[in-house]
Amino acid sequence: MVVIEVNKETCIGCGECVDICPAYVYKLVNNKSEPVNMDACIECCSCVEVCPTNSINHESC
Ligand code: SF4
Ligand code: SF4
Repeated sequence: MVVIEVNKETCIGCGECVDICPAYVYKLVNNKSEPVNMDACIECCSCVEVCPTNSINHESC
């Protein structure tokens, strides 16, 4: 299983990671992204690339 962390200090809740992830890993909770479905990650790295604030720390991307 991969480890994904979202920096809640810098996440602006734009939802870009939620929209782009093909595996539905993210969900917005209180206007912050939460990797609620990490097990489904296919390690495509799209979320890391799309985040405008570099808030996603992904073990394999
Ligand atoms: S690496 Fe790809 S599959 Fe994994 S959380 Fe990011 S966008 Fe989703
Ligand atoms: S793309 Fe980045 S800033 Fe936007 S919701 Fe996801 S983690 Fe937060």
